[in-house]
Amino acid sequence: MQNLQPFHTFSLPVRAHAVLEMHSAEQLQQTWQSHADQPRLLLGQGSNVLFLADFNGVVLLNRIEGIQHKEDEHFHYLHVNGGENWHNLVIFCVEQGYNGIENLALIPGCAGTAPIQNIGAYGVEFDDVCDYVEALDLKCGQIRRFSREACRFGYRDSIFKHPPYDQDYAIVAVGLKLAKNWQPQLAYGSLAQLDPKTVTAKQVYDEVCQVRRSKLPDPNEYGNAGSFFKNPSVSQAHHQQLLADYPSIPAFPQADGTVKLAAGWLIDQCGLKGYQIGGAAVHQQQALVLINRNNATPNDVLQLARHVRQQVLAKFKVALQPEVRFFNADGEINSEQAIS
Ligand code: NAP
Repeated sequence: MQNLQPFHTFSLPVRAHAVLEMHSAEQLQQTWQSHADQPRLLLGQGSNVLFLADFNGVVLLNRIEGIQHKEDEHFHYLHVNGGENWHNLVIFCVEQGYNGIENLALIPGCAGTAPIQNIGAYGVEFDDVCDYVEALDLKCGQIRRFSREACRFGYRDSIFKHPPYDQDYAIVAVGLKLAKNWQPQLAYGSLAQLDPKTVTAKQVYDEVCQVRRSKLPDPNEYGNAGSFFKNPSVSQAHHQQLLADYPSIPAFPQADGTVKLAAGWLIDQCGLKGYQIGGAAVHQQQALVLINRNNATPNDVLQLARHVRQQVLAKFKVALQPEVRFFNADGEINSEQAIS
């Protein structure tokens, strides 16, 4: 068995039969096929996973690297292989003047995992800059290009989270399309203080990095998988009821008529910041993040997630859903059921 602790950002004490680095689509295809007799799991940086047990199979790491750039009059086009580190890609783009992903600075993970849950932060989502996604069909070894529309991006969602694409396809590259006529996205928080007429992408990048470093735990210090829960959306009637009891509740009307609530605020209102079960805790600065505070076990994190969900449900009648994906010995399980 091989230690999985260094290969997922929660840093929990779990193992797998083997952990293998993949440097090309061909190698990935061959290795996937040659381990067909056991559970297989492809990971990037392991930044959105919770292992509940030792993995009874082989973990393949996407380390397919390389970036190509093209441009025309209106756009920069980047073809980015799936194993490229996402934050390094953001730095590269800011340095080269390829603007549009600066709001997505410091998100742990790889370029190839960004589309799976349509990473988003500070008003920008992967969806906004996606040209295409290339995925290897692991059944036949063909690489298939999915247009942005075909990816069916949603809030922390895409076809790559659902059958058959969650099992049979491995994202080997993404295509980004970045407009030369850059429009800064400054709607969120302290970004609104920047002057849209003079602001540079580097300034947006610096501000996002500063805010994230002040609020979010560094996985190198405390293991975590970013936001543990999704922000829930409720009906307008439910929102009105909540508003009567909690006049300061943050709420964001959505295009579909629902109202998005801030899960971190709901958890904070339950008095759970810093709350700890075993070695797992609710982060003190941002309640949406559960951390491996002190040698947490998978069960500590699971019990903590259940407790948080129960408390929020009891107080607000809102059932939080995990954003993090859960894996047991044989593969992915339904995370919502696991904490219900
Ligand atoms: P925040 O600024 O304290 O805001 C709390 C929540 O309110 C956010 O999650 C955001 O929802 C929503 N919100 C804030 N301003 C908004 C606006 N102008 N319009 C619509 N919705 C708004 O949140 P934070 O924890 O510091 O995070 C900042 C950003 O980074 C957020 O976009 C968050 O999603 C993202 N982030 C993601 C992860 C992850 O692991 N997925 C981890 C950390 C931060 P949205 O989440 O829908 O944007």
